[in-house]
Amino acid sequence: MARGTNETVTEPTAQTPMMAQYHALKAEARDCLLFYRMGDFFELFFDDAKIAAACLDIALTSRGDGVPMCGVPAHSAEGYLARLIKAGHRVAIADQTETPAEAKKRGGSKALVGRAIIRVVTAGTLTEEALLDARAANWLVALAEAGGRTGLAAADISTGRFELAAIAEGSLDAELARLAAAETIVPEGMAGAPADAIPQEPRLFDSAAGEARLKALFGVATLDGYGGFGRAELAAAAGLIAYLDRAGQGKLPFLQPPARRQPADHMLIDAATRESLELTQAQGGGRKGSLLDAVDRTVTGAGARMLAADIGAPLAERATIEARLDLVERFVEDGGLRESIRANLKAAPDIGRALGRLVAGRGSPRDLGLLRDGLDEAHGLHERLLGLAARPALMDALLPRLRGHGALIDLLARALVPQPPIDTAQGGYIAEGYDPALDELRAAGGEGRRAIAALEARYREQTGIAGLKIRHNGVLGYHVEVQARHADPLMRPESGFTHRQTLAGVVRFNAPDLHEQAMRVGQAGAHALAAEAAHLEELIAAALAAKAEIAATADALARLDVAAGLATRAIEGGWCRPAFADEPCFAVEGGRHPVVEAAVAATGERFVANDCRLEPDRRLWLVTGPNMGGKSTFLRQNALIAVLAQAGGYVPATSARLGLVDRLFSRVGASDNLARGRSTFMVEMVETAAILAQATERSLVILDEVGRGTSTYDGLAIAWAVVEAVHDMNRCRCLFATHYHELTRLAERLDALSLHHVRAREWKGDLVLLHELADGPADRSYGIAVAKLAGLPPAVLARAKSVLAKLESGRAATGGIAAGLDDLPLFAAAAQAPEPAADPLREALDAIQPDALSPREALDLLYRLKGIATG
Ligand code: ATP
Repeated sequence: MARGTNETVTEPTAQTPMMAQYHALKAEARDCLLFYRMGDFFELFFDDAKIAAACLDIALTSRGDGVPMCGVPAHSAEGYLARLIKAGHRVAIADQTETPAEAKKRGGSKALVGRAIIRVVTAGTLTEEALLDARAANWLVALAEAGGRTGLAAADISTGRFELAAIAEGSLDAELARLAAAETIVPEGMAGAPADAIPQEPRLFDSAAGEARLKALFGVATLDGYGGFGRAELAAAAGLIAYLDRAGQGKLPFLQPPARRQPADHMLIDAATRESLELTQAQGGGRKGSLLDAVDRTVTGAGARMLAADIGAPLAERATIEARLDLVERFVEDGGLRESIRANLKAAPDIGRALGRLVAGRGSPRDLGLLRDGLDEAHGLHERLLGLAARPALMDALLPRLRGHGALIDLLARALVPQPPIDTAQGGYIAEGYDPALDELRAAGGEGRRAIAALEARYREQTGIAGLKIRHNGVLGYHVEVQARHADPLMRPESGFTHRQTLAGVVRFNAPDLHEQAMRVGQAGAHALAAEAAHLEELIAAALAAKAEIAATADALARLDVAAGLATRAIEGGWCRPAFADEPCFAVEGGRHPVVEAAVAATGERFVANDCRLEPDRRLWLVTGPNMGGKSTFLRQNALIAVLAQAGGYVPATSARLGLVDRLFSRVGASDNLARGRSTFMVEMVETAAILAQATERSLVILDEVGRGTSTYDGLAIAWAVVEAVHDMNRCRCLFATHYHELTRLAERLDALSLHHVRAREWKGDLVLLHELADGPADRSYGIAVAKLAGLPPAVLARAKSVLAKLESGRAATGGIAAGLDDLPLFAAAAQAPEPAADPLREALDAIQPDALSPREALDLLYRLKGIATG
């Protein structure tokens, strides 16, 4: 490919106008890498070139003046863009706004080709199929503060989803973790902004501008119809839209009317819990190993995206959950229906994303083809479901959204070829018979080409050169080509041929009648392309006129896919439909952990199912037992069952009767968070503190080995106090796993606490883990037996055994580590103990109102306080 253009290419050095143009564009691009179009390449210069060359592993060159540069071919730029975006960069695309020929016409032979930034590509503003994960949403999030509140605006412009939410105190991390945004923007200087957020000019986050913009965008006089938004939400929306404006250079992508997120609609799951339960992402990163991965049997990208959203935000309202479950059950019960629906869905293209590209102005004929086929499948599904005798309410609600596109499908079917291309440059996407004028142009072009073919035969005969050929290329157009040794006769003027070009081995000529036919073909071709382009525009406009309805159809298809997928998974695993109760119970029989079960099955072992029965008067289960016995697995499986049930799915159990969970907390294992600069123990305590502060009687709390990150006595003391607090203050349902056997004494003091253990046996000196839950405390820890299983050297094991014997005999002599614990006052009594005697200094301090003091009064006060302190 020719690198460069017909314009006089000089690199952008200090002297050239091109340099001035480059720097102006680079200033506009700010912190984005600038892709500067030169002919068939996008070039990068200076530091941009160094960054891109390193990231893309392409050659960094430098021109005579030492300016570093590198480039990527424009036709394959998408792949390079994908890699840069993935590596966390943003890219501004400066394209040519005119051809070199147009520039010459405008400003003479030295004229510089006009260039402008046509788009800014960032992780949160992608719509391209090749750059997106088909099965994951792609959120751009904006945060803002106004009136003392934090607002969040989130948009997935690949499908138009748009949410606004006022963030409740302390739940920002939870919301951000749920969305797992590709990109987050904040006003510069915002306190508590996420570390990876991109700061923007604060003036862009203006609530009044946001409100006006939203009203204009959706053509409404008031936003009340969408739920009424506070200033913080509107400010976040303003920032988000301003960012999208810039990314699209004024062309706004698809945004559906904003949905208002209410925290009370969903089970609250904080970031730490989400991470520890591996709901949609495994701890090592990626989807594999997550609950989502173990459950997902959807057959469409849109279905997979919706399931991820459902699992990430389980519902808190019983009626909506039951409606989803009714739909799943319908598919569980009717295998034929389920399979046929899934086959239909599988054939349906991703119309949500195709629509997103079309609205963003990045759509292609192929996207229209996807709409045509997807909407047609939706109509087919509508017919199929309408014929059903028993339809659950949710199915009835989805039905009208599946139809109503007849005219558009018909138009697209008539207008487009069966497999329209992405690239429009060659034309050929408008079907024959759609436009008689276009057909005529094509016929004229075809005739011309046939005439040219006939000319070839005639020229051969006329010149007697059998090897004579008529060829076509971009520079010469149609021309006659002969081997060099046959060229002489054609060089003579009377031959009628005109010489155009001599290459090694061949010589090329023009001829008058060839020229005439070539003009005919060329003109017909150009007119045909223009006619196709005009039709494309009309077709896109026709599709966009129905964008809201198409988005609704896409959602309805996704909902059916999610339900049929969950039904498929339920059948596969022998799962049951959960039942819901009004009281805060949690009764699961034969519960299993879907991820661990699959891992255990892969090694040929059998997963042992376990029951869990939390009731108001046995709401706190203390689980003990050997390492590797399955405590963590048991704890997590119950949390996952709560999530799945409230997401509207069947659960891995033989039966489940659950009281709705308002908040779910999981503090599992001692995990480091070095990235956040906290030690293991600090993280553990911060998370435990959050649980104690927030868990309600309707919450479900999983605590695994709290206190193990510090010394034995400190750890036991903390675990002891936490169990008491959970029991007496939070009164939530709780599963608490521990190695501190001393805690089992709490059973005598706390009436709603019950003791359980995972069973193990020693057989011929070896430990056999049964992974089976039984009532009562474990008899001992088996730590050394597990160490033996792990292959600790025999000498070390023998030594450990003798140390243990010494410790235990010492413990027995002093009455044990927990001696004296029984004499502790009850937790509630301790918590309510009177404050120490009044302190005059503290009282004086409490009385001070700093804002009301003048500097002089403050100084006086300081002397007075000093006086009190020294008595
Ligand atoms: P530790 O106290 O060391 O943290 P633990 O008691 O929490 O251990 P888990 O981590 O839950 O133990 O389980 C250890 C391993 O035992 C799992 O990785 C799995 O292979 C197996 N396992 C756990 N539960 C079961 C079960 N119910 N059926 C079969 N295998 C199980």
